[in-house]
Order: sequence, then structure tokens, then C-alpha cells
Amino acid sequence: MLIVMRQDASPEQIEEVVRVVESKGCQARSIPGGDRVSIAVLYNKGALEEAWFMDLPGVKQAIAVTRPYKLVSRETKPEGTQIRVGNVTIGNGRLVIMAGPCAVESETQAMTIAENVKKSGGDMFRGGAFKPRTSPYSFQGLGEAGLKILAKVRESFDLPVVTEVMDLSCFDMVEAYADIIQIGTRNMQNFSLLRRAGEAKKPILLKRGMSATIDEWLMAAEYIMAGGNPEVILCERGVRTFVRHSRNTLDLSAVPVVQRESHLPIMVDPSHAAGFRDQVMPLARASAAANAHGIMIEVHNEPEKAQSDGAQSLYPNQFETLCRQIRAIEGILKEK
Ligand code: PEP
Ligand code: MN
Repeated sequence: MLIVMRQDASPEQIEEVVRVVESKGCQARSIPGGDRVSIAVLYNKGALEEAWFMDLPGVKQAIAVTRPYKLVSRETKPEGTQIRVGNVTIGNGRLVIMAGPCAVESETQAMTIAENVKKSGGDMFRGGAFKPRTSPYSFQGLGEAGLKILAKVRESFDLPVVTEVMDLSCFDMVEAYADIIQIGTRNMQNFSLLRRAGEAKKPILLKRGMSATIDEWLMAAEYIMAGGNPEVILCERGVRTFVRHSRNTLDLSAVPVVQRESHLPIMVDPSHAAGFRDQVMPLARASAAANAHGIMIEVHNEPEKAQSDGAQSLYPNQFETLCRQIRAIEGILKEK
């Protein structure tokens, strides 16, 4: 249930609505944005009756929310959410380009790539310090030393940094260094991690689970929002199918579907979807054409020596070309 207050509703009238919601054993959550206050009713056990709220002073409308996700739903908040990080805004109509290596490997590596990302017109730097690797024998990331390198990248190039949190034990540390905290595909339904993300003071980039439906993904985002963090960015990164020619199958239809269902911004990561460099540029261009709010691209100065995901990492000159192409596609979409 969403209770929409009249524009001239007084704080006392809003408080009274909250009190009635709580008296029904539910929680009330005000929804930011717009020119009036709306109150979402959460944790109801059964159906709620509109009449309980419609007669209260200051109430304009009580609307049943038909989807299982409430705070994430466009029914609850019709206008798109914009998330500001440093000088960059995600969801304001300009496509945001996040780029960098799969993993931070050394200061020289990160700084070299960041210089290229900045020069090419990238908006944010990505790089893992804690890496979720299939094999325990593979490079696991530099940990806090990697986060310190990311902080240096931010300072040197004025690029906000995005990095993955893998578990609860490193959450506080990642939160202290990151501008955006990434939750990876393997953790999309790690509910204790999602609850902690709900308490975080930084935006969360929530990747789609590799076998998750859109409903499951939006419910995972609901955990974060229900926990109190309204800043969630969704990221489609390909789902597992029967094909062998690519690592995953990029589900670009997720972009319009998520934009219809949710007010949260949605990005696309064609690098992890493709797994192979030659597919990344076409898929990235298609993501821009699909009107994604942003893209995330893996770039490496020496992909053949990369400690992880070298095969899907673009060369710096390819990334530069891609940025130009993306901005051109964006221009076409803005034409009326
Ligand atoms: C990553 O972005 O580095 C990553 C591991 O992505 P995903 O969780 O989508 O595999
Ligand atoms: Mn990677």
C-alpha cells in the first residue's frame, strides 16, 4: 500500500498516518522526491484496506502496490532515482561510463589504466580489491592494499571508485574506501550481505545473479532499500545459458523491463557477459542504444598479463574508441 498525502498535508497529519500504519502492525516509510509526501506501508501480513487510510485528514490517495517489491517499484515512486557520486550523477539522462581493470594488481597498473580512463572520457574507475574467484588458487585480490590504491586513483584523477564487497568481514573496510560498493553476481542473494548494504552510507551497485529472474533481482534490491539505503544501482551482467560462444548471455531486454518496473537506475556490464574482448564493444554499443543509464567496462593496459579476466579486457585504444562511439549513440537518442 502507498499512501499519498495531499500537497498541503501538515506534519501532524503525516504523523497520524504513520501512527495508524504502526497500529496495524506494519512499518511506515516515507518516500523521498516529488512535490508531496508519500508513505509506503511495509511488512503487512495480509491485505490492507484502503478505507483505513482514506478517511484520515491530509490523505489524498491510498494505492494498492501490486508488485512483491514495494520500495523498488515504480508504482511507489514514479520518477526515476538519480544517484549523485562526487561530480557524477547516475540516472539523470547522461550515460555514465565506469571502467578499469577486473582487479587492482599494483599501483602502477591501476594508475596507468586510470589515466587512460580519464583521458578517454570515463566517469568512474572500477577495480576489485577482493575478488570472488572460481578457483582458490587464482589471484584473490590485494585486499586493503588494493583499496588504498583505489583511494590514490580517486585523488589523482578525480574519478569516483567502484569496488566489490565480498563478505561481511570486509564490509566496513570497503565502505570506508569506496564511492560505490559493488555486490557481485555470486552474492546477489546473500541476504545477510544485502541487509548490511541496507545500513551502508554509500550507494550499492547490485549485479544481477547469473541465474536470477528479474523479480528475484528486484527483491534483492528491496532488501537493501528496506534496510534503509535508497541508493541502489542495478547492473545487468549476463545470465548463464547453454551457449558456448560467450561466457554468459547478455540480457538486454532487462533494461526496458527494469525501467518499466523500477525507478532505480540500471547499468550494463558487457565485459562479464561476453568474456571475450571482440564481443565487448558491440554489446556496449547495444547497451547504450538500449538506453541503459550506464555501462561498466573492463580495461587493461596489458591484458595478456592480467591476473584476472584478461581475455575480456579492452586495450586502452579500444576503450577510447568505444567512449567516442557511446557518446555518438547517446547523441542520436537525444534527437527528437
Ligand atoms: C566484477 O565486476 O569484477 C565481477 C566479478 O563481476 P560479476 O560479479 O558480474 O561476475
Ligand atoms: Mn572481472
